[in-house]
Amino acid sequence: MVIERIQFLKDEINKHNYLYYVKDDPSIDDYTYDRMFAELKRLEEENPELKTPDSPTQRVGSISEGHGQYHHKYRLYSLDNTYDEYELSKWYERVKKDLPEGSEPALDCELKIDGLAMALTYEHGVFVRGVTRGDGVVGEDITNNLKTVKTIPLKLFEDVSLEVRGEIYMPKSSFLKLNEEFEAKGEKKFANPRNAAAGSVRQLDSTITAKRDLAFFAYSVIFEDAPNAPDNQYEALLYLKNIGFNVNPNIRLCKDIKGVIAYCNEWENKRNNLDYATDGVVIKVNEFANQTTLGYTARAPKWATAFKFPPEEVQTTLVGIEQSLGKTGAITPVALLEPVFFAGSTVSRASLYNYDEIGRLDVRIGDTVVIKKAAEIIPKVVKVIDDGHHYEREIVTPPVYCPSCQSLLTSKPNEVGLYCTNSECKAQTLAKLEFFASNNGMDMSGIGESVIRALYNNNLVRTIPDLYRLEEKDFLQLEGVREKSAKNMYEAIQKTKNNPLSKLITALSIRNVGKETAELLALEYGNIDSLMNAGSVELAEMPNIGRIIADSVLDYFRDINNRLMISELRELGVNMKQNTAAASDELKGKTFVLTGTLKSMPREKAEGIIKSMGGKTTSAISKKTSYLVVGENPGSKLDKAQKLGVMILTEDEFMSMLNIAQ
Ligand code: NAD
Repeated sequence: MVIERIQFLKDEINKHNYLYYVKDDPSIDDYTYDRMFAELKRLEEENPELKTPDSPTQRVGSISEGHGQYHHKYRLYSLDNTYDEYELSKWYERVKKDLPEGSEPALDCELKIDGLAMALTYEHGVFVRGVTRGDGVVGEDITNNLKTVKTIPLKLFEDVSLEVRGEIYMPKSSFLKLNEEFEAKGEKKFANPRNAAAGSVRQLDSTITAKRDLAFFAYSVIFEDAPNAPDNQYEALLYLKNIGFNVNPNIRLCKDIKGVIAYCNEWENKRNNLDYATDGVVIKVNEFANQTTLGYTARAPKWATAFKFPPEEVQTTLVGIEQSLGKTGAITPVALLEPVFFAGSTVSRASLYNYDEIGRLDVRIGDTVVIKKAAEIIPKVVKVIDDGHHYEREIVTPPVYCPSCQSLLTSKPNEVGLYCTNSECKAQTLAKLEFFASNNGMDMSGIGESVIRALYNNNLVRTIPDLYRLEEKDFLQLEGVREKSAKNMYEAIQKTKNNPLSKLITALSIRNVGKETAELLALEYGNIDSLMNAGSVELAEMPNIGRIIADSVLDYFRDINNRLMISELRELGVNMKQNTAAASDELKGKTFVLTGTLKSMPREKAEGIIKSMGGKTTSAISKKTSYLVVGENPGSKLDKAQKLGVMILTEDEFMSMLNIAQ
C-alpha cells in the first residue's frame, strides 16, 4: 500500500542519511540509496496529499553535532540526479520551457567531485569562515580545520568579498594510504574517500585534520563586493582560478544537451584515471540571469542537475574462497579477490552467497571474474570471463567439514545452505556472542567484536550466560582496560537484563527470526515459557510467521542446550517477559480507530491489546480520536482523519508503540 511504502522509504532514507551524513559510515551504496529516493519522490508526486514537510525529499543532508553551528547567509542546496540520458534530455526540455520562448541555453559541465560541500567566506580577500553544508540552512563552523587544507587560500589575489562553495575531498592515493595505516593499527577503516574526507575535516582536533591529506575544488561563487564579477558560471570558474582557488580543470561549456551527453560518456571511463573520486557530472545552466529565472525547489536548483555514473563493474582474479561461519552456524562462501580499486574503495572480498550460486556461475579459483556493487556495500561476483584456461581449473566443491571445528557439516531439507551444528564450535560461538551483545541484539554498549574475542581468549566467556556472570574485575584482565571502562562494560551488560522479551528473542540468533518476527512472537506470547511451549500449528498460523519460521523456532527450543541456556539466563536475572508498562502509559486514556486490514494480527486482537493497555477503541472518527491506525486498503476513515487532523499511524508505527518499552 502506498502510504506504507512511503513510510518505509522515509524511514529507510532517514536511517541511511544518519549513517551517511552524521556517522560517515554508510551501509548501502549510493545507487541503492538514489533508487529509494527516486521512488519516494515519484510516489509523493503521484500522491501529493501524502507529501509531508518532514519528508527527506523536502530537505538537504543533515547537521552533525560536535562543532559550533552556523546559520548560512545564503542557503545551500542539494542536486537532483539521474542515471539516465533520456531523463537528462527531459530536464533540458523543462529548463527551456521555463525560459523565454526559443531559448537554447548553454550548459556548463563539471565533474561531480565525491566529497563534502563547504561554504567559504572571504572578506576583503581574507578567509574568515568555513562552514559545512549541514542541512543547507545551518552547518558546522569548521574554520580552523579548513585553515589546515593547503588548497584553501587564506588570502586571495584580489581584495574582494564573496562566498565560495566547493568540495573538500581526499585523493584516492591518500585514502588508500590512510586506510593501510588504520589497518596496521587495528582501527576501523573508512568505506571510501568521501567518508575519509568527511571524517577528517570534521575532527574536533584540527591537528588531526592537518595530518590528513585533504584538498579543495571551488565550483561556485556568490559575489558580495567584487568589481569585474562575471555573469555566467563558466567564466566564474575561470575567475575563481585567477584569484587563487583550485578549480577542476575538466570543465566544458556545451551549447546543447548532445554535447553534455558526450561529456558524460567520455568521463564515465576516463574518471578511473583520476586521483580523486567522482560520482557523476554536474550540469548547470550557464547564464546567471537564466539561473535566477529558473529558481529552486525545496531541495535543489532547477537550473542544475547531476548525471550520476552507473554502478561500476570491474574484472579481477578470484584467488580463493573462504568459508565464513555465521551466528546460526550457516557457512557462506566468500570470494577472495586480487585487490582492485573500484566504486570508491579497494575491494578484496565479494559475496558468493552459497554453493548453488558457485555452481551456477561455475566459478573456479584462478578465474577472471566480474564483480559489481549491488544492493550492499559488499560487492558480488556476477560472472566469469573465459580467459581460455577456465576449464583447466578445478571445479569448486562444497566443504564437508566445518572450517573452524572440523565437525561434519549438515544441510537442511529444501535449503541450499550448509550448517555446522556443533554447539561448541569456536567461530560460531564467537559470532553468536558478538551478535548477542551487538546493538541489534541486547545492545551491550562498549562490548564489541574485539572485547568479545578478548573475553573468549581469556577464558572468561564461553556461553551467553557467562556474559552475565562477569564481574567488574574480570574486565581488568583484558589488555588496555582500566577501572573506569571495566565498570562501564560491567554496567552495560547488567542493564540489558531488563530488556523486553522481543530483544532477547532477537539476540538468541534463532534461524529466520529477525527483529520484526521477534516482536510479533513476544507480543503474541508475552513470556518465554509460553513461546517455548507453543504448538507447531498455532505458531505457523500466526500472521507473518508461516511454516519455515515456525519450524526454526520449534527446532531451537527443542534443543535441550538452548532450554538450559534460557533457564541459566533466567536464574541470572534476565527478564523473560514482554514488559509493556511503558506502552501502557503511552496508550492510557487514548482513543483508537482502526481501518483496513492489519498484516500482523486480526483487528479484534489489536483492539484487545489496546484495551488491555488502558486505551479505548471506537469505530467512528471524530475530533476526539487520538489515533487512526491504518492497515491495508483503508476505508473513508483515512480521508476523514486527514481532514480533522487526527494523528495517523501506519501499522509499523502502531506496532512500535505497543513495543515502546524496548
Ligand atoms: P549529491 O552529493 O548527490 O549532490 C549535491 C552535492 O554535489 C553538492 O552538495 C556538492 O557537495 C556536490 N558537488 C560535487 N561537485 C560539484 C560541482 N562541480 N558543482 C556543484 N556541486 C557539486 O547530494 P547530497 O545532497 O550531498 O547527497 C545526496 C547523495 O548522497 C545521494 O544522491 C546519494 O548518492 C548519497 N547518499 C548516500 C547515502 C548512502 O547511504 N549510501 C545516504 C545519503 C546520501
